[in-house]
Amino acid sequence: MKPPRFKYIAADSLGAALAAKAEHGAEARFLAGGQSLIPAMNFRLAQPGVLIDINPLTELDYVREDGALRIGALTRTRTLERSQLVAERAPLLFEAVPHVAHPQIRNRGTFGGNLAHADPASELPAVVLALNARLHLQSTKGHRSIDARAFFTGALTTALGDDEMLVEVELPSLPLRTGTAFLEVARRRGDYAMMGVAAVVTRTDVRLGFCNAGETPVLVVLDKAHLEDAEAQVQAKINPPGNVHATKAFQRHLAGVLTRRALQIALTRAGTR
Ligand code: FAD
Repeated sequence: MKPPRFKYIAADSLGAALAAKAEHGAEARFLAGGQSLIPAMNFRLAQPGVLIDINPLTELDYVREDGALRIGALTRTRTLERSQLVAERAPLLFEAVPHVAHPQIRNRGTFGGNLAHADPASELPAVVLALNARLHLQSTKGHRSIDARAFFTGALTTALGDDEMLVEVELPSLPLRTGTAFLEVARRRGDYAMMGVAAVVTRTDVRLGFCNAGETPVLVVLDKAHLEDAEAQVQAKINPPGNVHATKAFQRHLAGVLTRRALQIALTRAGTR
């Protein structure tokens, strides 16, 4: 299949990309890695009239630390997988990234594109929810930042305005004695998960981000003092969609098992960090 006709704009600066988006609004889409957008266009599931190619914006390709870990939206998933800084400062993200698709797709796919695509089955939205990330959005009118929790508003839908770009993901530093773990069950390596969990255990709280557990990535916050029935609490809070690979009931079962295992691992790691 070939995509419908579209106008192509190669943005040579962030300002030019934002101006083009402001001009064309909802009719235009940013082209990042193209790993979700282009297949969707080929299948005619998306028919944007204008593509604004942001690949020349190398200033949005970075991983740096200034108290928080800051990752530019155009950073390739493969870069995250190989970053020593990510390994040290965001071990949960580092652990989750190899589960995203296949190396060829990670070579092109970007952190920003993955989050903006907002597939509830994707790993990275669950991770940023669990890590309480702040997402930085930019338009010609200015800058705003919102919690990851407010960013994912529906299946494949976000709080991004028609004129906005996601430019940076800010991951706050984790407190001392925090443990994290990412686990998923997929039919084959590289497939979307039937169920996945990103766990963050601090001294007081437990934050669990789930993929494929509802219309959006799902955050479940538990009281650390009441983890005896964590599996049941999670199973009551999620609403997995079910599909040909796993029924809703099986997905719920997996969520319980993964919760128990991820908590065990994260609690152990919390003791050693
Ligand atoms: P694009 O495809 O370029 O864009 C996706 C959407 O986000 C578009 O609407 C675009 O306009 C918008 N967008 C992109 N960047 C921005 C920005 N900075 N600001 C605002 N909007 C923006 N993903 C997983 O998480 N797990 C998987 O297991 C997985 N398996 C896959 C298997 C296959 C075979 C394929 C083809 C893809 C798979 N993916 C998976 C998706 C992959 O990770 C994509 O790379 C990712 O979802 C989208 O990133 P991208 O940079 O390619 O974005």
